[in-house]
Amino acid sequence: MAEYSIGVDLGGTNLRAAAIRGDGAILNKISGTTDLHEGRDAVIADIINAINKLKEQCEGERLLGVGIGVPGFILMEEGIIVGSNNMPGFDNFPIRDDIEGKLGTPIFLENDANAAALGEKWIGAGREVHDLILLTLGTGIGGGIISGGRVLHGFVGMAGELGHITVVPDGNPCGCGNFGCLEKHASATAIVAMARMLQLGDDITSEQVYKLAKDGNERAKMVFHTMGTNLGVALATLINIFNFPLYLLSGGVLAAWDLFAPTMMAEIEKRSFTFRNAKTVVTKATLGNQAGLFGAAYLPLQQRAISTLSESRLSGSGL
Ligand SMILES: [Zn+2]
Repeated sequence: MAEYSIGVDLGGTNLRAAAIRGDGAILNKISGTTDLHEGRDAVIADIINAINKLKEQCEGERLLGVGIGVPGFILMEEGIIVGSNNMPGFDNFPIRDDIEGKLGTPIFLENDANAAALGEKWIGAGREVHDLILLTLGTGIGGGIISGGRVLHGFVGMAGELGHITVVPDGNPCGCGNFGCLEKHASATAIVAMARMLQLGDDITSEQVYKLAKDGNERAKMVFHTMGTNLGVALATLINIFNFPLYLLSGGVLAAWDLFAPTMMAEIEKRSFTFRNAKTVVTKATLGNQAGLFGAAYLPLQQRAISTLSESRLSGSGL
């Protein structure tokens, strides 16, 4: 019997789910919206409906499990979302056990940025390496660390909050309580904030700043240079800590790569002895907004592979 896994990407606005085989082939896919105003129970019901629909479409094949990528801090062992800015109704809700109880299928929970990093490792830009870091640049900045092929969780599951590392000691205040977080100085939101400060317009969007910079506007170009420098500070630190071979960037801001990458790379070169002496790649991720969906689907597949490996080791040792 053929086997497959289901990945769910639960975002603040979109709910997507896909049935995916072990080789990465998508069997079926569902896209909908996350109707947070309908309440938590309605969102959970939508998730279960999406999973059940995919199961029906894959009748006759064996479902290994369901992986769910969610925005926010997760307590891995308990399967609880501790806090999610995008989904306030889910705070301290035991989402894993709730869905598992209703479906009778193993559920694997993961932070959305970690899931995206795992997706890139599985079948994206990181398929050739075992260790990588992904930064997702959007309205905020998410991060995921893959070490030895697996998500690095820390002791409760809150590792990899790379958007909240300090790049400007007394910089802009962040919702996390810190000042000068990377996401306050290098995200799409930061681009808009800098453009406003440089009087490029009160209602300007990050896309408009990009167009201005492309057309040669010096102040708009300065915004991307500064953003690149800030990213470079963070990346140099990460490279010094991890000495991984690969650092990936994703998100809509990548369209402006040519505008911010030169100052980013110069800053990394300047600040990281490790970078200057080890073949290190900083480049674009390739799966776009599908990365989280693939990564979520990979969770049950990876778990199965790990169990199979330890079983064969146990039997091999005669135990
Ligand atoms: Zn922060």
